[in-house]
Amino acid sequence: MKEVRKVRLTLKSRPTLEGAGVHLKRAFGYDDPWLDPFLLLDDFHSNNPDHYMAGFPWHPHRGIETITYMLHGKVEHGDSMGNGGVIESGDVQWMTAGNGIIHSEMPKHNENDTLLWGFQLWANLPSSHKMMDPRYRGITKDQIPEVELNGGDVKIKIICGEVQGIKGPVQDIVTEPKYLDVTIKPNSEFRHSIPRGHNAFAYVVGGKGYFDDEKKQLISNENLVIYREGDEILISTAEEKVRFLLVSGKPIREPVAWRGPIVMNTEEELRIAFEEYRNGTFLKHGKEIYT
Ligand code: FE
Repeated sequence: MKEVRKVRLTLKSRPTLEGAGVHLKRAFGYDDPWLDPFLLLDDFHSNNPDHYMAGFPWHPHRGIETITYMLHGKVEHGDSMGNGGVIESGDVQWMTAGNGIIHSEMPKHNENDTLLWGFQLWANLPSSHKMMDPRYRGITKDQIPEVELNGGDVKIKIICGEVQGIKGPVQDIVTEPKYLDVTIKPNSEFRHSIPRGHNAFAYVVGGKGYFDDEKKQLISNENLVIYREGDEILISTAEEKVRFLLVSGKPIREPVAWRGPIVMNTEEELRIAFEEYRNGTFLKHGKEIYT
């Protein structure tokens, strides 16, 4: 008998100011044993360009992966590896900072359509991989498979992980993450296995749903659902549909030393990272380009 994971906790995302003055909502942004290996989830969702045009100018990352998923609008990016381009609606950027990357992430203005909506997830790297060479994967909307379950009651975009034998485009990540964008029609349900020992959370993007089999409470937009241990999750709907991000991964369970965009294991490693950034020896690959 498979054990359905219960909801441990739900948290409403909170208004936060980030980057050069971007108004966003933070679902979480701290080192939590029940969210490990994930460190942060930001939801930027605004119709007001004043809330996002300042963007995230050139800044470093080390020791983590940043995963950007756009639902609407465009973000232009460039990095010290020489990658550059525009992340558009439905695209994903999976960036493994490893031993160091310097990049910029700047929303593009469109006066006919000012809505910008997307997510940035930070995944930690274990000590064995913190100083790996940086790796960049730009994934376009059409490279993300969409599967339907229960005769079309459930639709899933697979960014990372596997559903019904279909794999998402992002593979070979050390923490074995899953990242799914799931929509469930009204009066339907969705079951999905998550390996025991992995941590899992859902973040509601729209509508309302029950996030376990106790069905105590319908959980709505901009709420984070953190799961307990178990074999599978069971999410169901009442009269309304629900859309959510479902994310899971293998916890790292190592000390976390975190300052701004850099996450290492020790204070000494942090000190070295910031010193290298100041004196121009931060990058082990690529070069600083500020355009
Ligand atoms: Fe960044």
